[in-house]
Amino acid sequence: MPILRFGSDAQKERYLPKLCSGELIGGNGVTEPDSGSDAFGLATSAKREGNYYILNGTKTFCTMAPAADVFMVFATVDKRKGFMGVTAFIVERNFPGFRVGRDIEKMGLRTAPMAELILEDCKVPVENRLGKEGNGAAIFEDTVEWERGCIMASLLGGMERQLEQCIKYSRERKQFGKAIGKYQSIANKIVDMKVRMETARLLLYNVASRKQAHGKAAMEAAIAKLYVSESWIKSCLDAVQIHGGYGFTTEYEVERDLRDSIGSTLYSGTSEIQRNIIARYLGL
Ligand SMILES: Cc1cc2nc3c(=O)[nH]c(=O)nc-3n(C[C@H](O)[C@H](O)[C@H](O)COP(=O)(O)OP(=O)(O)OC[C@H]3O[C@@H](n4cnc5c(N)ncnc54)[C@H](O)[C@@H]3O)c2cc1C
Repeated sequence: MPILRFGSDAQKERYLPKLCSGELIGGNGVTEPDSGSDAFGLATSAKREGNYYILNGTKTFCTMAPAADVFMVFATVDKRKGFMGVTAFIVERNFPGFRVGRDIEKMGLRTAPMAELILEDCKVPVENRLGKEGNGAAIFEDTVEWERGCIMASLLGGMERQLEQCIKYSRERKQFGKAIGKYQSIANKIVDMKVRMETARLLLYNVASRKQAHGKAAMEAAIAKLYVSESWIKSCLDAVQIHGGYGFTTEYEVERDLRDSIGSTLYSGTSEIQRNIIARYLGL
């Protein structure tokens, strides 16, 4: 999305077809060891020297970094300018001075590997700057709205699959001579999962339709991000409980959903940060 929305024609031509076909894998380098929620407090520096920028710094928690070919890296051309100095660059894996650091082990989402990015006098051609100097914060804010909507859509798919599986299990699993779904305490969990899923769907469709109509949906994206991620964790806990001891084993993979779900209230801005954004839009 950042390249599509802010890239030059040459950048679009060079990267977009291959990113769309899967020939190139992309990564996003915003977070640093000392700046997470405070994304624009980043310290990675970019200094112009002739036709290049020289980038120095370390990025962390970069999803897909071990496999990625091209990265969106946010750096500052002048730290004293705060968010006004933040600038976006397209960095290719083979640029001199760039390397992918150690793999980061995590509790879930293990099929999406993660690593650090290390930039040591990394030479980035001027034509790989995305937008103008100091435009990085605006680019980040714009694309994070898309990110929040699109990532949450995949959780909605997970909620649908999980609900179907829980209904099936509750019909088949019998205790005390009848299907566990006939016990109101199990049925209620499934009903709550259904209500969360349908609410999540409406919140996501609201973001999508607003983006289509007006282009902006910052508060709506924050509401959807907050609600869908927290609902996903609640539904994952319900799914484990419905499966009893089998839910705690790896057999039905509901424990895997639970491990994966925990990341959703952290990445793309934590729940606390989404609440801050919504509060700001309410004038608080
Ligand atoms: C699975 C996963 C994938 C990720 N992928 C990427 C990626 O591809 N690229 C990338 O750049 N980053 C990525 N991240 C990093 C992610 O964006 C950060 O982890 C997140 O922004 C939080 O930053 P932090 O971990 O440094 O926590 P911190 O910012 O240190 O926060 C610690 C705690 O303090 C709270 N807190 C902080 N500030 C405030 C505040 N102002 N008000 C209230 N509470 C506050 C937070 O909500 C949190 O609970 C990923 C993270 C995860 C878990």
